[in-house]
Order: sequence, then C-alpha cells, then structure tokens
Amino acid sequence: MADLDVVVVGAGFAGIYAVHALRSSGLTVRAFEAGGGIGGTWFWNSYPGARCDVESKDYSFSFSPELEQEWSWSERYPAQPEILRYLSHVADRFDLWPHIQLNTRVTAARWDDDAAEWTVTTDDGAVVSARFFVSAVGCLSAYQVPSLPGLETFSGTWHHTARWPAEGVDFAGKRVGLIGTGSTGIQVAPQIAAVASQLYVFQRTANYAVPNRNRPWEPAAEREFKSRYRQYRKEARESFLGVPVAGTGRPVLAEPPEDVQRTFTERWQAGGGMPFLGAYTDLLVDQAANDVIAEFMRDRIRETVSDPVVAELLCPRTFPVGSKRLCQSDDYYAMYNRPNVTLVDLRSTPLESASAGGLSTTSAFYELDAIVFATGFDAISGALRQIDVRGASGVALADRWGAGPHAYLGIATAGFPNMFIVTGPGSPSVLSNMALSIEQHVEWIRDCIGYLGAHGFTTVEATSDAEEAWMAHVTEVAYSTLFPKADSWYIGANIPGKPRVFTTYVGGVGPYGSKCDEVAAAGYPGFALGAP
Ligand code: FAD
Ligand code: NAP
Repeated sequence: MADLDVVVVGAGFAGIYAVHALRSSGLTVRAFEAGGGIGGTWFWNSYPGARCDVESKDYSFSFSPELEQEWSWSERYPAQPEILRYLSHVADRFDLWPHIQLNTRVTAARWDDDAAEWTVTTDDGAVVSARFFVSAVGCLSAYQVPSLPGLETFSGTWHHTARWPAEGVDFAGKRVGLIGTGSTGIQVAPQIAAVASQLYVFQRTANYAVPNRNRPWEPAAEREFKSRYRQYRKEARESFLGVPVAGTGRPVLAEPPEDVQRTFTERWQAGGGMPFLGAYTDLLVDQAANDVIAEFMRDRIRETVSDPVVAELLCPRTFPVGSKRLCQSDDYYAMYNRPNVTLVDLRSTPLESASAGGLSTTSAFYELDAIVFATGFDAISGALRQIDVRGASGVALADRWGAGPHAYLGIATAGFPNMFIVTGPGSPSVLSNMALSIEQHVEWIRDCIGYLGAHGFTTVEATSDAEEAWMAHVTEVAYSTLFPKADSWYIGANIPGKPRVFTTYVGGVGPYGSKCDEVAAAGYPGFALGAP
C-alpha cells in the first residue's frame, strides 16, 4: 500500500491549494517544495518592483468566501511582499504547514505498473510512494541565465531576478547593467535607476507596456465590491481571461478613427492591460487591427521619452501587441528621461561577453559594479523536465515531450497514469489570470480522484487519441490568432534548441472550463479508467 494518496510537487499558488483541496476531500497529501518558503513565484521573485499585473481582487483564491471577505488588499495591483503574506495567511488559516516539506527538491518520479503507484525520490535521498502524482512546479519557475562568455570572471555581483536574495541588493551609488526588457526588466529597471549612479539597460527587443494606474484600495470601495464578490467570481470563471473585462464588442477596423482614439485613451488613462487589449474584438486576430493599437502605444512612448532617438529605439516593431504578455508599468518609459539611465541597443550592437570589469557589446565596453539578469524562464515545461519522470513501461517524460510538451486538456498526458499537471501545456494557464486557472485545475483533479474512488477505479490515464485531438485543437485555435507570430517564451523561442510549439490554449478560460466540466460529467471520455 502506498505511503500517501497524493504527492504534490511545488508550493506556490497551485501546490498550496492542491494540499488544501485534496486534504479536504479526505486524502493524505504531502507537498515537496524546493524553496525555503511557500509562495513559488512570489517567494523567488522578490526583486524590487515585483508586482502583479492582475488586480488583487482577481489574483486571489475564491474557494473560501470567508477568506475573501476577511483578507484586505492594500492596493489595486499588489506587490510581491503582500502576495507572499497572503499565501502565508492561507497556509496558517487552513493549517497547511504540516503537509508541506520545504527545502526539498523532487528529483525523480517513477510509475510502478504492478503496484499502480508512483515512487517519488527527493534530493535528500528519501523515497515515498503515492497513488497520485500532481505536478504544481509552475509554468515560470525554471529561470534561465543566458550563456555569456566570461561571466565567471566578473568581479562585481550578479543576480537573476528569479533568485533574488531575501535580504535585497544594495545598488546605491553603483553602476548597474540590466539585461532583459520583458515584464520583469520593465518592473525592476525604474527601481534600480532610482538609487544607482548609472543604469545601463541592455535591450534586445523593445517591449510594449501599458500604465497600471496603481492606487490604494479604499475601504469604502472594498466594502462595496465585497458585497458582490460571489457573483463576480462566477463571472470571472465564465470570462475569456479569468477576469471579467468589458470590451466594446466591435472590431477596431470598423470604428471611426476618432472613436478609436477616444476608447484607447480612456482605457490608457484607466490603466491595466486586459481592458486595454480587450477593447476591440479583432486586436489579437488581425494584423491590420493590431497595427492600430501598436501605433497608439508607440505614440505614447514618443510623447513620454524626451530624446527622440531613445524613444524610437523603445518603440516595439517586431511582434504584435499582446502576442507577448503585455507589460504594465507606471514609470518605465519616463525613466529614460533620467540623466543616469542609458539604453543600449543590442539589435545594432549585440552583447559579446563579460569580463572582470563589466560587459562588452560589439561596439563598446560598459564598466559595471553589478549585473541583473531579467532574462526569463524555460517556461511551461522547463521545471517538470528537470525531474526524471518515468511513466508506464519506464518511458521518460522528457522523451515523450521531445517534440514539444502536450497534454489532454492541458492536465494529463498519455503514458503517465495517475499524474496530473496543474496549468499544464494545452490549458489557458499563462494567458489567463493564473490564480483562477490554478483553482479550476485543482478542483477538477480533486473531483476526478473522487470519481475514481466512488466508482471502483484506481487508475486514470489520458488516451493518445484524445491528447492528439486536443493538442490539434489547441494549435488550430492558436494559429487563428496573432500569438504565434512572436518569438516569445509562449512558443519556446527564448530557449536555444527548444521545439517551437505553441502550447497554451487561447480559446478562453470560460469555454475551456466548460469543456473540462463536460468531460467530468460524462464520466471522463478521453481517459482510460482502470480497476485492480
Ligand atoms: P510557482 O509559483 O512557480 O510555484 C512552483 C513551485 O514549485 C516553486 O516554488 C518551485 O520552487 C517548486 N518546484 C519546482 N520544481 C520543483 C521540484 N522538482 N521539487 C520541488 N519543488 C519544485 N500570473 C498572473 O496571472 N498574474 C501576474 O501578475 C503574474 N505575475 C508574475 C510575475 C512574475 C515575476 C512571474 C515569474 C510570474 C508571474 N505570473 C503571474 C505567473 C505566476 O507564475 C502564476 O500566477 C502563479 O504564481 C504560478 O503558481 P504555481 O504554483 O503554478 O507555480
Ligand atoms: P521574458 O518575458 O522572457 O523577458 C526576458 C527578456 O530578456 C527579454 O527582453 C529578452 O529579450 C531578454 N533576453 C533573454 N536572453 C537574452 C540574451 N541572451 N541577451 C539579451 N537579452 C536577452 O521574461 P520575464 O520578463 O521574466 O517575464 C516572463 C513572464 O513572467 C512574463 O511574460 C509574465 O507572464 C510573467 N511576469 C509578470 C509580471 C507582472 O507584471 N506581474 C512581472 C514579471 C514577470 P528578447 O525579447 O529579445 O528575447
């Protein structure tokens, strides 16, 4: 008999809720977390400026009406320390700590066909068996430092934003080089610029950012909102992005130009990426429509940045707006008006190497005391592939996913019985409000395990046919949009040698949730259920 019903890997939003939901349904559960604390993304990414791009009222658990009433967010967009406090509160309130083992990395997981259980090995040499294996390792937890010749000789300090020291980094009076201008780079740059003597931003690809218009959540507004929280959560589950967004319902190309300007300006003033991008129906499916919003955004950059040469370098031109996650910042572009900030254009002068004193491009040497890598992640499949996962007949997950990750409904993969992947490839995951997508997956997994028990089954496994058909649908929907046009981490383009496969479901959170519910209600077609 297995030691546990379920092993969960990871203790971010997903692992925390998996422990609670599975325990509440009577199962024995242990979560292993590599980090020294819970929180996942919000534990590791403690760089200055780290902040959510989904509003706090949305980026929070909905499973407990009491929790959502008693917890009070201070701001519209919460900063990393507040999210971490929230997750710690959740663990306290639901007594989850005894079921989470910190500082423990899962190194291997092996399915035993005869015993119908998983054997899970951790980096302290311990081995535990479980009937089910739930991956909650995160879509954005395997960080990447690009190979940069000479980095080991750099005499200053360097950090990746996803492994930020808990005690912080003192940049006061320092010359700092920042590599990367994705969501992370755009958040951290103004914070460094405020204290460093000089900040060099090494930009390979210019990026789009909309304002946050962040503000405190006033108690009166909070009280009013919380009186209708339940209804709001229902609307969020049925929405396209996991956040109810009111668009005009019309295509931008059919709208008079002055109305378009007014609509975009109003939404720009209100702040937030989802309402801005959700303004018109064709922005993410028609290049000509996307060009309209792109030009609006470039105009905002030009009117903010005083040096016209710098402004043009900051104007994105190589990918459609929204085909990479839209960045949000209230102070990124304006930062370039500071005398201590220099933009280095890596397109015209690529980065070549590091040395003891700093960084060299093909045309100049930059003397630095510190380097910050905001260079992103081996996303979606990276963290799971770092575990030696072996399914039926010893097949390695890394081999099964050799041509790219895939999973039926984004939650289970053929050949790996009794294994579930929270926000796995083929689900809306990173294109949604992830807190909501995580809850939806965890509840589906809990209910599936409950169904097996209630109907005398012990195993569940996605069939190859169902998985192939689902991934074909995922691909078809993706290629009806502009998403695959970007060289983004969504498609694996940021990792040398990674197969270029778009694996996120862009058909919408609401429709996706309905499909998952239908499968469950129909007794799990597309899954093979087995009894002893
Ligand atoms: P994570 O939070 O990544 O947690 C996974 C955990 O698994 C990690 O703690 C990791 O240490 C652990 N782990 C991995 N492998 C192993 C192993 N082998 N053994 C043991 N433990 C392991 N999403 C949004 O919707 N809105 C946002 O505004 C937003 N902002 C973000 C900001 C940043 C800086 C980043 C990086 C991501 C952001 N995201 C955002 C995405 C974010 O990752 C998710 O919203 C969510 O926090 C993911 O939770 P998770 O539990 O699935 O994964
Ligand atoms: P990212 O979007 O992948 O950006 C990485 C940046 O590093 C890019 O600008 C990239 O340039 C650059 N880069 C990578 N390798 C490089 C190299 N060898 N030389 C020069 N530049 C290099 O990573 P991220 O910014 O960490 O964001 C990842 C995701 O996390 C986001 O998309 C978002 O989903 C989430 N996130 C959200 C928030 C938030 O607002 N709440 C904050 C941070 C992160 P290229 O574009 O040219 O490849």
